[in-house]
Amino acid sequence: MDSYEHLLEKAYKNVKVVEQSSERFEIPKVIGSVAGKNTIISNISEIAGYLRRPIEHLAKFLQKELAASGKIDNDRLILNTKLNSQKVNEKLQSYAKEFVICNVCGKPDTEIVAEKGIKFKHCLACGAKSPIKSKI
Ligand SMILES: [Zn+2]
Repeated sequence: MDSYEHLLEKAYKNVKVVEQSSERFEIPKVIGSVAGKNTIISNISEIAGYLRRPIEHLAKFLQKELAASGKIDNDRLILNTKLNSQKVNEKLQSYAKEFVICNVCGKPDTEIVAEKGIKFKHCLACGAKSPIKSKI
């Protein structure tokens, strides 16, 4: 018969497995500050890295969605308008939905592929291909 300790050890192992497989996809929150008329997002490269998309692509999307022009400077994104972080966080969610999260299985393990001028999200988890509507 299994000892209590042994059972406990087994239970812990099972818990760990569950934790790993249900790891949540959570985009890092924007670290932003307003300086004069600009908003500086200082963790844009961390966010782009988490989403596994080029920082330039993410920056372009945010500029369009937030109707601001901007530039990348020393791994920071400087937008020429005053914004609150909440609004930027919402746009990051839209970005993830459009360019990162699989439409079929909801996993973030996708890559962008282009076929005949149309861009698709190709899911590495379930193999689905979903067209991307945004022109960015
Ligand atoms: Zn999928």
